Amino acid sequence: MKVFIEKIDTYDFEKIFNFLKSLTSLWQKLDGKQKILLKPNLLSAFSPEKAVTTHPMVLDVLITILKEKNKTIMIGDSPGGTTPVKKVWQETGMKELAEKHHIKLINFSKGGVVSKKAKTIEFNTSKYFWEADAVINVSKYKTHSLVSYTGAVKNLYGLIPGLKKSDFHRDYPDHIKFSKVLTELYSIAREKVTFNIMDGIVGMEGDGPSAGEPRNFGIIFAGESASAIDYIASRMMGFNPEKNQYITACLDLDNIKPDEIEIPTAWENFVFKKVKIKKVKTLVKILAYSPNFLQNAFRGLFRYYPDFNDKCELCNVCVESCPVQVIEIKEGDKTPTIDYKNCIKCMCCHELCPYQAVYIKKSFLAKFVIR
Ligand code: SF4
Ligand code: SF4
Repeated sequence: MKVFIEKIDTYDFEKIFNFLKSLTSLWQKLDGKQKILLKPNLLSAFSPEKAVTTHPMVLDVLITILKEKNKTIMIGDSPGGTTPVKKVWQETGMKELAEKHHIKLINFSKGGVVSKKAKTIEFNTSKYFWEADAVINVSKYKTHSLVSYTGAVKNLYGLIPGLKKSDFHRDYPDHIKFSKVLTELYSIAREKVTFNIMDGIVGMEGDGPSAGEPRNFGIIFAGESASAIDYIASRMMGFNPEKNQYITACLDLDNIKPDEIEIPTAWENFVFKKVKIKKVKTLVKILAYSPNFLQNAFRGLFRYYPDFNDKCELCNVCVESCPVQVIEIKEGDKTPTIDYKNCIKCMCCHELCPYQAVYIKKSFLAKFVIR
């Protein structure tokens, strides 16, 4: 299984075009398919410079190539939380792109769902995803505070409409349980994804997926298998992909052994220097595997929780997005208040705050465990 990798330092149309155009084996997969859905990462209303969402230039190039092939093109996603979708289209550059190319923007939260049962979980997924003749998954290369790394596989989480996504965070709160959700979703969605492109020209490190710092990784990935891309790309960030439950499980679903993934020789042993990684997962992992009495002891010693900084604009997005409704804004307060006793630490508030006003606060001892 091939993963194509190219060094591209800036959002230069021509360089991206030349790389994507050269992927003939991937383009051949679109032969005979007319209605093409592009599924970028449009997590919320962030401008492209924040590196939270797929950069519009990557989509611009893709659309240009698809138009040469006379395809009918749509861009679709279901952003998280309650930010109006129109604001997401506007901020992320999608509105401008759609107007330029006269293509349709699809809100996955509208237009109906198709219910699909995976091994243990039943998913309602956007009808548009299943109605397309082919889907190109166009993800963003980032760290993630719950599952460490987010890329091609995790991008498919956007197939679940609206706040339904928060319900899964509530019901599957730690990284092991949430990895199971991602794996089961991948088991039903993978057949529909024709190929994958991941934008790592400017990705994110640190407090990802939305409150981290942009990092110019200067790289773009492509391939048939989302899990193979994630295996290689997470390793390049300095993670051990063998220890990432959802990546290894999805690789199994794709029936790929790690040593069967082919990448260009120049990248074989490449690892980015000093990628800033929030290792919340270390703590969550300890908790998830420990017996109950130890879990309680650890929880007392190693506490981490979302808190607010002075960037808060009292926009109410976190209040409306919290799957267990434990955030409120009290009259006269400058930031919201969380009922920590009932907070399930899903980090939806952290993920969806449009102003990066939610950060992860750690107890004194947790600082030694969580980098
Ligand atoms: S923390 Fe403040 S700015 Fe962020 S979502 Fe909540 S209310 Fe809005
Ligand atoms: S307060 Fe934040 S972390 Fe806690 S349950 Fe609500 S959204 Fe999740």
